[in-house]
Amino acid sequence: MALKDKYPITLYNTLTKKKEAFEPIHEDHVGMYVCGPTVYSNVHLGNVRTFMCFDVIYRYLMYLGYKVRYVRNITDVGHLENDADEGEDKIAKKARLEELEPMEIVQQYTNDFHDVLDQFNFLSPSIEPSATGHIMEQIEMVEDLIKNDLAYEVNGSVYFDVAKYDKKHSYGKLSGRKIEELMESGRMLDSQDEKRNKIDFAIWKKASPAHIMRWNSPWGEGFPGWHLECTVMSTKYLGETFDIHGGGMDLVFPHHECEIAQSVGSTGKEPVKYWLHSNMLTVNGQKMSKSLGNSFLPNELFTGDHKILDRGYSPMVVRFFMLQSHYSSTLDFSNDALTAAEKGFKRLMEGFKISKALTHENGDVNSELEEKVKATIDTLFITMSEDFNTAKGLAALFEITTMMNNFKAGNIKTSDLSKAVFDDLINHYQGFIVEVLGLQEEREGDTELVDGVIDVLIKIRQDAKAAKNYALSDKIRDDLKAVGVTLKDGKEGTEYTVE
Ligand code: AMP
Ligand code: ZN
Repeated sequence: MALKDKYPITLYNTLTKKKEAFEPIHEDHVGMYVCGPTVYSNVHLGNVRTFMCFDVIYRYLMYLGYKVRYVRNITDVGHLENDADEGEDKIAKKARLEELEPMEIVQQYTNDFHDVLDQFNFLSPSIEPSATGHIMEQIEMVEDLIKNDLAYEVNGSVYFDVAKYDKKHSYGKLSGRKIEELMESGRMLDSQDEKRNKIDFAIWKKASPAHIMRWNSPWGEGFPGWHLECTVMSTKYLGETFDIHGGGMDLVFPHHECEIAQSVGSTGKEPVKYWLHSNMLTVNGQKMSKSLGNSFLPNELFTGDHKILDRGYSPMVVRFFMLQSHYSSTLDFSNDALTAAEKGFKRLMEGFKISKALTHENGDVNSELEEKVKATIDTLFITMSEDFNTAKGLAALFEITTMMNNFKAGNIKTSDLSKAVFDDLINHYQGFIVEVLGLQEEREGDTELVDGVIDVLIKIRQDAKAAKNYALSDKIRDDLKAVGVTLKDGKEGTEYTVE
């Protein structure tokens, strides 16, 4: 039986607020869209958490045997300050401040985004479309919405008429917000003179003379609205209705709510079968965000160069740390939690190393152990198939890690298991660690290499000293010190410490 049929997925759907059986629209195929970053600044660890949740979901779906088309966009225009309809474009503002072209900003931070994801061992999505590459399609959707009498043009900008839409289709199903309450609330007062109602949102904005990112349209020069981009890019590559739409929980309203309205308003179809939202990374209980000033850049974490960190942590330790919680729970960032994660990660990777060295031998099968192994493999899949519970999945992996230690210690033997069960155990243990959770062994090879190079330099220094070339021997000592390697001469020879 195929893995996906043996371990069917259930997932929590934000739209229905229920756990549901996952049944893709096209058998064996999954279409998944995740809102990508707005590339106007370095990604912080909060962003990383959200993308990591979906990286693991993508990986697990493939591990079960689904063919997945994963689309994650790059927002390079139209995302205005405060996520509102008024104010400067985040990218244009950065370009103005740094005296660069907006596309230089976009390139710089797209590169940064990719570098960070590489460090954390993310898989690339199948398609990574950018909003500026889809202006024509966005204009077409605005035209469709005007044609369907759900959008109106005022002074070169086009707004979505939420009240009109609500009468036909009911607005607010994803976030549970009621249009009457939104009308009452003090939010969304921008562009009020142009909007029929304050809850209407821009799908096309007229560019002011100072606005550099602008395109021709039937309504004059302007730029697309942020919500519209995702609707256009997701449906272009995944169809008018697709399986999974993901993003951080902070995007449920208004971004995703507006995406639904635009899709239903233009095609008459619900765009998404399952809405998945990952929860926030917090610091002392507060959402990590650039504007609150509590965000961490991945590099600060690797080097330990941050006021709340005692020391640095490797990308794989951080990855492990994030996987220890379920994606729908908040995750609080702290030194202690990272130190504990480091221990856990090391223990898991020790088990992984043991598993690579084991070979099966034939003998009398211990049926009690064999049943236990089978049950643990089942638990591994069942917990991950239950709304992608990486926290419980890791617990099952640690049960197998204990078995690996027992193999090593000789408490149990590979011959206690039949060949088929042994192979299943090793394959899925390694498969979950590497392919599903995306964990990698730390690159110990690098330390060995560095040790070897320092030993060569120590030897050259000794030879220089013997030849009374003190200028060279001192230079080697001082230059090594400058890069953080301190030599210490003793009776046993020269030892060194690395900072
Ligand atoms: P942005 O570039 O601001 O549009 O954010 C990119 C993604 O990161 C979105 O899906 C956000 O929901 C997500 N995000 C932002 N802050 C956090 C956080 N503190 N924890 C988890 N995800 C976050
Ligand atoms: Zn989006």
